[in-house]
Amino acid sequence: MLGITILGNNSAIPAFGRHPTAQIVTVADELFLVDCGEGTQMRMSTFRVRQSRITHILISHLHGDHFYGLTGLINTMNLLNREQELHIHGPAPVESVINMHLALANTQLRFTIHYHTNPAEGGIIHQGAQVQISCFPVTHRIPCWGYRFDARTGRRKLLVEKAKSLGIPAEFYKKLVQGHDYENPATGACIRNEWVTEPGPVPPSYAFCADTLFNPAIAGYLQGVHTIYHESTFLESEADKAAIRFHSTARQAALLAKIAGVKCLLLGHFSSRYETLEPFLEEATPIFPNTLLAWEGTTFLVRPTAVSKPA
Ligand SMILES: [Zn+2]
Repeated sequence: MLGITILGNNSAIPAFGRHPTAQIVTVADELFLVDCGEGTQMRMSTFRVRQSRITHILISHLHGDHFYGLTGLINTMNLLNREQELHIHGPAPVESVINMHLALANTQLRFTIHYHTNPAEGGIIHQGAQVQISCFPVTHRIPCWGYRFDARTGRRKLLVEKAKSLGIPAEFYKKLVQGHDYENPATGACIRNEWVTEPGPVPPSYAFCADTLFNPAIAGYLQGVHTIYHESTFLESEADKAAIRFHSTARQAALLAKIAGVKCLLLGHFSSRYETLEPFLEEATPIFPNTLLAWEGTTFLVRPTAVSKPA
């Protein structure tokens, strides 16, 4: 199971009770913070997110509404006696900005921060036991990356009758589910894993597409992804403004979801010019029906999907 908890869904200026960009991606017992706009730590407190469980922070780009909350959050972690290491991924200057703030305040951190600069062309940035994370470049006014999460389950489905008929002892079934072959200790004969198991469910996957101009090429990074968050700063009536400011409209977000062949689209990063959000949904759903508004305080769950058997 993978969960996305929306902490902030607005663009540059907080408005109508909406806050700058931040969201928590939960995979198993690990939390990943994606962007950290101003006030993110207060939003975490409101929605009872345990910041001590955050292991990685992923910053998409250095516009203030995506990272002005980072120094404050790090400072609070320090005051709460965090000892666990923290990984921060993003554009290279993040490290110097944070270090400058901490140095000016003469703050000595009790924990180690590992900074990781995103490769310009994107790529895998984290290989964990539960999830693989990669970044991909998007099209914004300054360098900006989206993040893709591929949960791992790696578990295969055991065909018990077949395993029994081939004489595999029950105590080896756990290993079969993990993908191991069985070797008969008496005869040395090998029973290949795929003879007695079949593929398990497809692990959940999610991509945060950050701030971007509509760019169909981004779909290339989203192949096989179940759910995406795509910005929709504007409605189509303001498409000219969207283009000038390197942002997208709700219609364009829906088009991208359709081109990428994903299953679910979350819309966010709404301009402060809009008081109500329903028009975003009305604009997107005729193109991509399974569209949801990324309401703050909501956790969206992505479950493993069953593998359809070949006919
Ligand atoms: Zn931006």
